[in-house]
Amino acid sequence: MKYTALKGVHDILPPDIFIWQKVEKAVKDIFSAYGFQELRPPIIEATEIFIRSIGETTDIVEKEMYTFTDKAGRHITLRPEGTAPAVRCYIENHLYTLPPPQKFFYYGPMFRYERPQAGRFRQFFQIGAEAFGVEDPKIDSEIISMLKLFFERLGLKNLNFEVNSIGCEKCRPDYKKALLNFFSDKINGFCPDCKRRFEQNPLRILDCKVDECIQLRQRAPRVTEFLCSNCRKHFDTFLSFLKLLNIPYVINPNMVRGLDYYTRTTFEVTCEHLGSQNAVAAGGRYDKLVEDFGGPPTPAIGFAAGMERITSLLKSSGNREIPAPAVFIATIGSPAEKEGLVIASTLRGKGIWVEVGYSGHSLKSQMRKADRLSAEYVLIIGDDEINSGKLKWKRLSDRTQGEISFNEVYNFFIAPYL
Ligand code: ATP
Ligand code: MG
Repeated sequence: MKYTALKGVHDILPPDIFIWQKVEKAVKDIFSAYGFQELRPPIIEATEIFIRSIGETTDIVEKEMYTFTDKAGRHITLRPEGTAPAVRCYIENHLYTLPPPQKFFYYGPMFRYERPQAGRFRQFFQIGAEAFGVEDPKIDSEIISMLKLFFERLGLKNLNFEVNSIGCEKCRPDYKKALLNFFSDKINGFCPDCKRRFEQNPLRILDCKVDECIQLRQRAPRVTEFLCSNCRKHFDTFLSFLKLLNIPYVINPNMVRGLDYYTRTTFEVTCEHLGSQNAVAAGGRYDKLVEDFGGPPTPAIGFAAGMERITSLLKSSGNREIPAPAVFIATIGSPAEKEGLVIASTLRGKGIWVEVGYSGHSLKSQMRKADRLSAEYVLIIGDDEINSGKLKWKRLSDRTQGEISFNEVYNFFIAPYL
């Protein structure tokens, strides 16, 4: 075939789309119970926004962004993540003038030039949530509990909640020093990227995915030992709320996350069934980002969950979401066909899914089609039915059947669906 989709991007079509829609519905149901409202920021932003927030020495900015100049020479990037655009939107629209917390969620495609593999694509969808204006760790625990309920609603099990605190700008310098100290005699064994990170941003070494680097950093000092008293207290209170809410967690002191804007709480939700790309959701606090972007000091916390990884877990756990029409109208002959079309449009007007047979198809082939679609009912109309004013119905699940007059159709089908 002449044209194919680009490498690392995918069409999403039925029946998979029904699983996607199920997840989208769970997002709306659960997130709105926590007061999160939808934001729809644009997919393109000024490149600068991502460099400033995610950080120059991160994988995303160094290697993964789809960046181009437009016809006026502006530097533009297809968003690789949603937090920076949400922060830009929060400030630009003066949402900080509204009472905190301001809680938002968004859903849509993100773009990263990564090596395509299982669970890793170049266009992928994220469900993101951000809460602005609250420092209290209670909101950190609410965010984790919202994620937990969301995954429970979808019936996903075997999820691990990993949490950490990476401190604030007060704790960071001492920790950086300790890391540099620890890495200084191991530097030759690191990958070229980490050699550079050692000079520029040693924390990033903790996020490297190269085996040798993972080995070499095993005994590295732990950030949790360097927390200042405020960060320590924040973290301990957060953990006590997780206990209160019965959320089992594991502290992972190496989890620094791949983006520079994080402060204090970081977390990841992982699932063993996913293999090496096992994170389904990840996030954390970014208490300085709003200020860095020129807004007022505003603590904030958020996360993003990967749709492809969630839907693949649902698929592999046998989820099949194939909707079926309520009614199939099979007709024989032209008067019946017209009558069928009118009934179909009346029922459809009430939101009932109706399929019709098309001319030239025998009754048998229309019945086969109804079966294939798993329609709940078939209505059969031919010349006899037109003459007698009664049409035949069949329920495919138990093969029951009967007759009703044309003017009973409305009550028969519409009433149960109201
Ligand atoms: P990873 O460690 O898997 O690369 P990340 O740290 O880059 O993840 P985030 O930027 O925090 O991930 O994104 C949050 C979530 O988005 C991830 O946990 C994952 O579910 C999903 N995700 C990230 N990158 C991709 C991708 N290239 N393809 C599909 N899903 C992705
Ligand atoms: Mg990544």
